[in-house]
Amino acid sequence: MCTCLSQASIIMVGGGMMKGYKDCVINVDLTEGIITKEKLNPDYIKKYMGGEGYGIALLWNEMPHDAEPLSPDNILSFNTGPMTGTPTPSASRTSVCFISPLTNTIGASNVGSHFGAELKFAGYDTVAFKGKSQKPVYLYIDEQKVELRDASKFWGMNTRETTDAIKEELGKDFKVCCIGQAGEKLSSLACIFSDDCFAGRGGAGAVMGSKNLKAIAVRGTGKVEIADKDAFMAVYKDAYQQLRSEAYTWGPVHGYGTPAWVGGSNDCGILPTRNFIQNQFEKIENVLPYQLWNNTDKYSIRRRACYSCQLGCHKYVVMGDTEVGEMEYETLAAYGPRCGVDDYESICMAGYYTTIYGFDTISGGATISAIMEWYEKGIINKEHTDGLEMTFGNGPAMVEMTRKMGLREGCGDLFADGSYAAAKRIGGKAMDYVMAVKGMEISATDPRGASSMTIAFGTSERGACHMRPYAATIDAFGYVFPDLDINEPIDPFNDAEDKTWLKAIKEYFVVTNLAGICDFNVINVEMKASTIAELYTAITGIEIDKFELLRRAERTIALERALNYERGFTRKDDRLPKRFMTEPAIGGPPKGRVVDMETALDKFYEACSFDMEKGIPTPEKFEELGMADVAEQIYSLNY
Ligand code: SF4
Repeated sequence: MCTCLSQASIIMVGGGMMKGYKDCVINVDLTEGIITKEKLNPDYIKKYMGGEGYGIALLWNEMPHDAEPLSPDNILSFNTGPMTGTPTPSASRTSVCFISPLTNTIGASNVGSHFGAELKFAGYDTVAFKGKSQKPVYLYIDEQKVELRDASKFWGMNTRETTDAIKEELGKDFKVCCIGQAGEKLSSLACIFSDDCFAGRGGAGAVMGSKNLKAIAVRGTGKVEIADKDAFMAVYKDAYQQLRSEAYTWGPVHGYGTPAWVGGSNDCGILPTRNFIQNQFEKIENVLPYQLWNNTDKYSIRRRACYSCQLGCHKYVVMGDTEVGEMEYETLAAYGPRCGVDDYESICMAGYYTTIYGFDTISGGATISAIMEWYEKGIINKEHTDGLEMTFGNGPAMVEMTRKMGLREGCGDLFADGSYAAAKRIGGKAMDYVMAVKGMEISATDPRGASSMTIAFGTSERGACHMRPYAATIDAFGYVFPDLDINEPIDPFNDAEDKTWLKAIKEYFVVTNLAGICDFNVINVEMKASTIAELYTAITGIEIDKFELLRRAERTIALERALNYERGFTRKDDRLPKRFMTEPAIGGPPKGRVVDMETALDKFYEACSFDMEKGIPTPEKFEELGMADVAEQIYSLNY
């Protein structure tokens, strides 16, 4: 039971408590050491559903909008969705929301594992932290008992050591989220680790470190109630069948994990190679996943899955005595082709250091590829790299640089906050080779080969994000999706095409973050939006259709853009690095193509009803979304 009853309960239409949610938030003031519990804010749920939407509403309504990312004012929240902890396929997700030290925009990062489900089983939807503890602490949650405990003895431990030590102390049935050394040392790339899953992007780990918060440990024995079990089982069977019948997802991805993508990505000419100088890798054969799986003398691979996930994309690699951890597409692409490296041993070791020190694998590999280009162009030299020969393809140098970045050791300090921050310190022409948007490194898709990714990276509210949406599936790989009115293949090379379809796909991806399910339910348009709506209705008892589901995502995006706008972000920040507009792709299907950024932006803004210069919804659009109060506040700003 909640001890603080400051707000009305969430009542479903027709009376009774809404199922799916636990209707309880834990608020932790780390400065004062005070923990309170309160009911979910029903207005936030009605407008934004939960998960990421709830966390962003907290930032908008309860944080000073000019809060510095590493200041006590920043609110760091862990937000489950109404589906988290239910038997819905891959209902494992928790959205971590904060102001990002990497981008200074909203931060919204998403982690799987079993943590979110356990939080629901303990009786909570959200845990929100503000302030800063005087000494290292961790949050202990055992059903109704919630305490801040001393974490001094864990400080300095890496992610796996921390997890093991906490489980040793509390019991193996606790689920743990924690930071490693990168978070403690406030690296803007630091992530939050949970059993080899990560809230990876945007520096959430640094925000946790800035608050002297080492970990959260939770145990719960409850369950998530479902309003209509018969209806749920009927829709569940349908949803599961939709997943199972997608041949690529249930074939290569189920078998090899996301590294299965790397061959197709190369064929389509969208595989970043040598810091995006190339869009195909001439040594692709050496990094195809079978090279790892078939080399049984050197590697063993275990299959793992997050809570309630039958797909199980995780492939956990052990190399000799080294527990490398998950090998997935972004890690392989970042430390492989992007750095010109073609040996799995180096890729695995870089992934290992990234995992144990706890920082983002995408930005980590991307930063090293920028270092390599700077080095080869003479912008930096061995004095900047502690003597490391940082040429493209030098796997051992890449591994050593990764280790140094994770610990801020020697030259690692210069690069630990990512390529954008390093370029500012290096000066000269360094910034010309930073492949980032809003300071966040672009992930492993070349937008010259997929016009949709020009918009995905350019307009993502959290910096260059590959998951909002990963729409290359549709334009580069040729999927159609009648459920969202995409009935014909989309031209991947036409920036001038109507982007209405892309607006819908972006919202469809954000819906997964609101509901608490994995993007891998939708990445190959497996699960219909209408099916997700039916699941929501069966779980909560609230009637909803796919249009209202997308509308909640649209509101969340609108609120994120409003907050970013207040922090100074406008259309000028929704742009890709100039390489994509000035250097034609040199291989594969997009050969010779450059991005027409302004045309693509015009088309997308038009589809979204955004103001063409401000990059936020028009006042009329805000009004239509029921957010006139937000419009009033931000349109009074004079820029
Ligand atoms: S598809 Fe992969 S990341 Fe998603 S829930 Fe399943 S195991 Fe976790």
